[in-house]
Formats: sequence, C-alpha cells, structure tokens
Amino acid sequence: MSPTLEIVLRVGGAVLVFGVMALWEWAAPRRVLLAGRRPRWPGNLGILAVDIVAVRLLLPITAVGAALIAAAKGWGASAWLTLWGVPDWAVFVLSLIALDLTIYTQHVVFHHVPWLWRLHRMHHADIDIDVSTGLRFHPLEILISAVIKIVAVLALGVPALAVVVFEVVLNTTAMFNHSNVALPPRLDRLVRLIVVTPQMHQVHHSIVRAETDSNFGFNLPWWDRLFGTYRAAPAAGDGGAVIGLPEFRDETERGLLALVTQPFRSARSKSRAQSVRSASVQAAEHPDQRQDRQRDAEKP
Ligand SMILES: [Zn+2]
Repeated sequence: MSPTLEIVLRVGGAVLVFGVMALWEWAAPRRVLLAGRRPRWPGNLGILAVDIVAVRLLLPITAVGAALIAAAKGWGASAWLTLWGVPDWAVFVLSLIALDLTIYTQHVVFHHVPWLWRLHRMHHADIDIDVSTGLRFHPLEILISAVIKIVAVLALGVPALAVVVFEVVLNTTAMFNHSNVALPPRLDRLVRLIVVTPQMHQVHHSIVRAETDSNFGFNLPWWDRLFGTYRAAPAAGDGGAVIGLPEFRDETERGLLALVTQPFRSARSKSRAQSVRSASVQAAEHPDQRQDRQRDAEKP
C-alpha cells in the first residue's frame, strides 16, 4: 500500500467514524451534556491538531516504520514464533492482542504514577464525555504513548499490517466508546464481552476516583476482567455519574491554551470539596434546566 493511499484511508476512515458517531449522538444522546458541544469542541479538536503536528515533527519514525525495520532485521518475538512454525495469521492475531495489552498496561500506569497522571488527567478533565473526548489527549501523553508503541513493535516484531489495523481499530473504538450514545441494554451486555462499549467506558470518566481507576480497556474488555479492574456500572447508575474531575471544572479550563498548560498547573480556585459539591448540584439539576443553561451558553 502506498503511503499516500494509507494516509487518505486513515484520515478518511477517522473522519467518517467521527461523523457517524457525532450524528448518532445528536439523534439519540445517552445523557444531556452539562456544557454541550460548542464550548468544548474547539479545545478538544484543537488539541488533536497539536498532537498530530507534535508527532509528525518530533518523532523520527512511526510505529509502521518500526515494524518494517523489525521485519527487515528479523527482530522481535514474532521471529521466534515463525521459526517454531506458528502461521502468519496467528502471529497477526497475537500481535493485535499483545498491542492491546500494552495499551491497557500503559493506561493503568498513567493513572498511578503522579507525573504521568498530570498529563493523562487532561483527558479526564472534560466535564462531558462524547466523541470529541476520545480525541482529547495531551501532546506529551501522545508522544510518550507513541514511543512506548514503537518499543513494543520492535520488541514483539509486530507485522506492519497489524500495526496499521491496530491503530485504525484503536482510533475507531476510542471514538465509539467515548460517544454519548447507548446500545440497548441487552446488546450492550453482549457487545461488551468482545469490545468496550460506551456504557462500560463512562464508568472510567466518573468523578469518583475509585470509578476513574477502573475499566481501563480501550478495545478488548478482557484485561479489566482478568486483572480485577472491571466495574459494570457507576454507583450512581447507568448514565447517572458526574463526569470529569473535581479540580478542573471552570469554563476557563476548556480552551486550547488551558488544555495545553493544565498538567503544569494545580486546580484554579475552588477547593476539592467545593468542586465535588457544585459538580453534583450541576449534574443533579433537571435536564430541562440544563438544556436552558446550555442554550444560554451557546448563544453567540
Ligand atoms: Zn484514563
């Protein structure tokens, strides 16, 4: 596949998935958003643009480039598997599963190491969760993730096609499981046996820290069940959790500059206790009141 065609397919696919999820959210939202789209999307999409530029400018190779190097040099665990007669399709599937476990582990580490949490918490500070949240990561987190992925690809000897498929699937599932949509409960119970669903991932964005530290999976839900980090629903019930972090809820925290600088700042203004109280009050108001406030906020 030519590099140009690969970029066209990747970007085209991502825009298509974003569009479909955005339309689905608009037609059948799971919950009424606190702040809504208009105040949040410029920052959330702006940080995505910063991420893309940062990765292009600062990293000498991509994960696909690393896969081609590993294949040419015969590096990585997959070379051993091939020697032992494991067929290519099995190496391909095992590579996808191993990369997913790497991403899960990385996510857990980002929650538990304080300086990494400072970078990752910007993703969690979004006071609503929708398709744009799935694209909102700090550029330093994106760069560290890219380096981890390159090291994993070299160590495992992941085939280049598996890297492309993994990256496309991860982008798609991240947008899907952050979306403000709901699968019918029965379907959700089935789908979440093989892939993380929006209802499963909303638990991870709850303001309650024990819930934030659960459901770390992005693609496969199995790691959470295996390592005891799975929670079926928030304590407040499906769709009832307050979303975000207690310390970054101000309107001033939504712009691009605020998102970039957030890891290097402590919470502005209110104490944690005050923030949790006001967040709960906001979340508990009647949906009509919230929609009115949202409309006021969105007036030009
Ligand atoms: Zn997280």
